[in-house]
Amino acid sequence: MRRIGLTILLALFATAASAQAPHQHGHGTATMTFEGNRLAIELVMPGADIAGFERPPQTPAEEAALAGATAALRNPVGIVQLPTTARCTVAEAEVTVEGYEQPAAGAAAAAHTEFEAVYVFKCADAGGIRFIEFPLFDKFQNAQEIEVTVLTGRGPTEYEVTRANPRLDRGNFLLRWLTGR
Ligand SMILES: [Zn+2]
Repeated sequence: MRRIGLTILLALFATAASAQAPHQHGHGTATMTFEGNRLAIELVMPGADIAGFERPPQTPAEEAALAGATAALRNPVGIVQLPTTARCTVAEAEVTVEGYEQPAAGAAAAAHTEFEAVYVFKCADAGGIRFIEFPLFDKFQNAQEIEVTVLTGRGPTEYEVTRANPRLDRGNFLLRWLTGR
């Protein structure tokens, strides 16, 4: 499993996850994989949490809200924060927005909308990632909780971060993945 590319691994996991029930508003998911000095995080958030509404925009204000939310997610700074000691830089940041298209005449709009962001960080000292902070709760007032799945060669491990406790902090758990201990 460690030999599979990060984004392929995330895509496989996301495909499995998307077969599940529709999302619950306020609740997002983050899936993480770690390979060498690269950390990949895939964030999937309900449209209600990020843009504040889940239907095609109907006013210029809603258009602006949608564009602003998408732009905010495109910059991982302020969304996910890693310790400065790890000296990480953003190698990739991609955002996919789903469900906001105007439906074809006679068709219904999507029942739910989602934002998906994939971030890849390259870290000079990956062992320095002793916690991961989620400042996105400050940016997006409707977001309440994120279920975090950490994928390693030994399988998935589940964590949770919340508005009240936005820090994923399990000592040097990331270092343990790196070294396999
Ligand atoms: Zn929804």
